[in-house]
Amino acid sequence: MLWKGLWLSLPAGVSPERCCAASRPEGISCLLHLFLLPAGRFSQTSTFLKSGKKIKKVSGAGGRSPPLMRLRPAAARGGEGRGREGKKKGRGGKGRVCREPRVRAGRVCSGAMGAPGVKAVFFDLDNTLVDTAAAGRRAIEEVVKALRCRHRCGEGQARAICEKVQAKLLKECHDPARTCITELRISHWEEAIRETIGGEANRSLAAECYFLWKSTRLRHLTLAEETRGMLTELRKAVRLLLLTNGDRQTQREKIEACACQPYFDAIVVGGEQKEEKPAPSIFHYCCDLLGVQPTECVMVGDSLDTDIQGGLNAGLKATVWLNKTMATPADSSPVPHYVISSVLDLPAVLQKMEHNINAKLGNERTVSSNGAC
Ligand SMILES: [Mg+2]
Repeated sequence: MLWKGLWLSLPAGVSPERCCAASRPEGISCLLHLFLLPAGRFSQTSTFLKSGKKIKKVSGAGGRSPPLMRLRPAAARGGEGRGREGKKKGRGGKGRVCREPRVRAGRVCSGAMGAPGVKAVFFDLDNTLVDTAAAGRRAIEEVVKALRCRHRCGEGQARAICEKVQAKLLKECHDPARTCITELRISHWEEAIRETIGGEANRSLAAECYFLWKSTRLRHLTLAEETRGMLTELRKAVRLLLLTNGDRQTQREKIEACACQPYFDAIVVGGEQKEEKPAPSIFHYCCDLLGVQPTECVMVGDSLDTDIQGGLNAGLKATVWLNKTMATPADSSPVPHYVISSVLDLPAVLQKMEHNINAKLGNERTVSSNGAC
């Protein structure tokens, strides 16, 4: 419970000076000793011990961002790293870092989730922030039930229809200028029913299946509370953008269904742009939208082919691959900078970026110092 005394982030609207005036330096100092002495291996001990003074020096926009400080040694963090590292999760306090507060662009930033040089994080939607695959499975089960109960289909037939529709969705090629997505997807169901049961086309049954599938899927698309909390905290330090591929109507309906708009500074749907991920143009469009450089942005997503390849193509600062199953990707796949098994691990990745930068700066200083001698 002593850890609470070390958490130096500030709530919105509270200045560092107020925080410092209200704090008890002797208490903080005591807690620091309790924390630092057994740790031993914290490389930034001196910086940490000066934290009280540093808080006082932060006086507004442009104040220097002090380096990150770990609350736990690396071994306890369940870290992650380039390539296939980081199979452990960093939730539940592990991997959390604390940085002295900083003020930037009118926002009081806790800094706990930011990283120097990172001004924006782009998030994919499907199977990254929301579990679209699970919602789709629930929707299929609803349709199977309806086909069996209301239309006297056998279970095998009902499942065969749904499998055919899913295969058609995977191969779907939609030109919104020529067809609306609703008509196209009702046609998928119509074809699947005819291919499975035979007989005349049954457009009304197809429409019933489609709308049941769609409404059930949307109903189960939710942004988990802990994800919302992570986004809220992260947005205190960096700008957030939702970047999702797909048909405009479909993706907008998903965005509305999971009510994720308030957590982002901007939302970009691939179907509304000239090109989708992994084209660099859509990433550069996102950067322009937020007024940041590609080298100041991080892309987080579950798709190596679109999210990671796209981030690499666009020259982003880093790519973070969400690999929930920790499956081994093909050798030919693009290599992300970081791999996580839960989107909630992202703050620890940003911490790692900062740590790496600090370590690099430290090495450079050492080299410089050695050279001078
Ligand atoms: Mg995705």
